[in-house]
Formats: sequence, structure tokens, C-alpha cells
Amino acid sequence: MRCKVWRSNKDKELHLLCAEGAGAFNALPTAIRHLGPWTGSKEGEVGSLRPAYRVKLAEQGFAVIYQHVSKIELEHARPQVQMMAECPTCKGKARVPMHHGLRDKDCPRCGGRGWVRTTT
Ligand SMILES: [Zn+2]
Repeated sequence: MRCKVWRSNKDKELHLLCAEGAGAFNALPTAIRHLGPWTGSKEGEVGSLRPAYRVKLAEQGFAVIYQHVSKIELEHARPQVQMMAECPTCKGKARVPMHHGLRDKDCPRCGGRGWVRTTT
């Protein structure tokens, strides 16, 4: 689901968050709409919002946020990026020696892939 941030023309730190589209905006309580006039600001995925704002948006259909727009995090927030890194146990070879090097086996740490996931 997409959502949109509106900024009050009267106060640049006063923001309104609601679902994207004129319909969602027009469905807001009159009192909220009168906090404006509102100017359209950022748009983005609800999933990239801070959890507290996401909860408010789900509960009441909008959220009034008194924060600088940079604190609302729309396109700034990204899902955690998974990186591949060389497995520290087998050093990327995917196999580890056993029986004093007479045989080898799949590295148990990386499952024989030679790399592990790291989360940034
Ligand atoms: Zn390994």
C-alpha cells in the first residue's frame, strides 16, 4: 500500500500522513483537513514508515506527525540489505578438512556454499 505525506503550509514541521490519492485525503476528518492547507510532500510504501506511524495509519486511517520531514522516513528507509560474505570457517572454499586433512566435508557453517549472509 502506498501512502503520502502532506505538509502544512502554516507550519513546516506539521505533517499529515494518509493513504495515497485524493479519495483518502478527502475522507479525512474535517478538523484534520483544516489544520492545513496541506501541500503534497513525500510518497512511498507504508512498509518504509516508522512502525509507530504505520500503526496509527492502520488504526485511524491517518497520522498527524509533528516532526521534521526527515524523521518520517519514506524513501530513506530500505529493507535490510543482505550481503554475502566469505565464510569465515572455510574461507570461501565451502569444504573443511576432516581426519587431519585426509578427507574433507561440506563446511557446517555455510552449509557448503562458501559464503554466509551478513546483515548490514
Ligand atoms: Zn564455510
